[in-house]
Amino acid sequence: MPEVYNWQLGRRATYRYEEKHPKEQFTFVFNTNRCIACQTCTMAHKSTWTFSKGQEYMWWNNVETKPYGGYPQFWDWKILKMLEQSNPGQNVWNVRKVDNEKPHGVYEGVTIFEAPEKIGLNQEAIGYVPTDEEWRFPNFGEDTAHGREFTQSREGTFGGDNGCKSVLPEHKIWFFYLQRICNHCTYPGCLAACPRKAIYKRQEDGIVLIDQSRCRGYKKCVEQCPYKKPMFRGTTRISEKCIACYPRIEGLDPLTEGDQMETRCMAACVGKIRLQGLVKVQNGRWVSQMDNPQYYLIRHRKVALPLYPQFGTEPNGYYIPSRHVPRAYSQQMFGPGVDHSIDQYMVPDRNLLAILQLFRTTQRIIFSYKVEKGPKIFETNIHGKKFTMHNDTVIGMNRKGKEIIRVTVEEPFYVRPEEHPGAI
Ligand code: SF4
Ligand code: SF4
Repeated sequence: MPEVYNWQLGRRATYRYEEKHPKEQFTFVFNTNRCIACQTCTMAHKSTWTFSKGQEYMWWNNVETKPYGGYPQFWDWKILKMLEQSNPGQNVWNVRKVDNEKPHGVYEGVTIFEAPEKIGLNQEAIGYVPTDEEWRFPNFGEDTAHGREFTQSREGTFGGDNGCKSVLPEHKIWFFYLQRICNHCTYPGCLAACPRKAIYKRQEDGIVLIDQSRCRGYKKCVEQCPYKKPMFRGTTRISEKCIACYPRIEGLDPLTEGDQMETRCMAACVGKIRLQGLVKVQNGRWVSQMDNPQYYLIRHRKVALPLYPQFGTEPNGYYIPSRHVPRAYSQQMFGPGVDHSIDQYMVPDRNLLAILQLFRTTQRIIFSYKVEKGPKIFETNIHGKKFTMHNDTVIGMNRKGKEIIRVTVEEPFYVRPEEHPGAI
């Protein structure tokens, strides 16, 4: 089996096909700290793409309450358990080896593509097809909190020296919202699994699509996508999945006169938790682009982390982990970079704070940004660290470098005129 380089794992890993990369990669950052589970994103997706007969239970975008919620039910618990059973106690991270090629250390366990060999299974990746019952609810167990402290040993899938140094209070009773769409993975499980070669990754933007004319509904993608994002449609008997609203990504929506746009679920986000973009790829590596908000948050500051990197698909959805969730749970979900991410997010410096203001401020894709310095407006201590806030202005630009959004760190203050109290 060929080997490919997976930067999230910090090592080469087996995959069905040789390495082949797009010119740009579709990426997104979700800030789990800000989500209010209003499900506007879910409905934006539903009303755009899956409102037809046979798609009633199809939610390409869903927001689930962790730790109990899941769509389909128990999806991550089940795949984590399968990974653990294939390599008991050995799926650990080594965080002593960290550099630019291995920004989160080295994963020394097995991925979903490596597990079959371990257990003598003749397929591309381990997986399972959820039952019809498991697809019934987009957020089963909504707002159900976990009542006891989560411990590593109880779940048993994360191990190693994680170098934890933060002292934030972790809540004993907790839940948080996890927003999910297809991750348009670099090494997709769905693509590797398809016996018809009906699934492909676009050269221009890395979006992963199912060719509806080639698909014969074998459900291998449903089985071997660890995130359970391809879905079978009973009326057509073929599979469908998130298409990353590609006409918008291509700039074909007449609304913006050619400017490339974020997907519908991103653009609709009420909690302003989402920022989506494209990163340049060269020779299989992300090009260093400090002025690209995606590159800056994911690769440079490492404040946004991949979802279950240990699965090995190199997902291109990234998350800012929730601050008060027990670390062992977050580390199992987002890898060993959780402490570093939360440390920065809790006490952001000027640049980071400015970029965080860009989330959900425009429907257009922000390709680059710059920050104009403003006056100091606030100073305090957060968990023993000095925090100074400046009213900086962050400016977002489109692909051509034209300004498309301008926001300040301090929100503007509007006074309603007496004669029009209901207006601003
Ligand atoms: S999340 Fe699943 S469906 Fe999407 S690209 Fe990755 S493996 Fe394929
Ligand atoms: S629209 Fe935004 S805030 Fe609302 S549920 Fe979706 S991700 Fe969360």
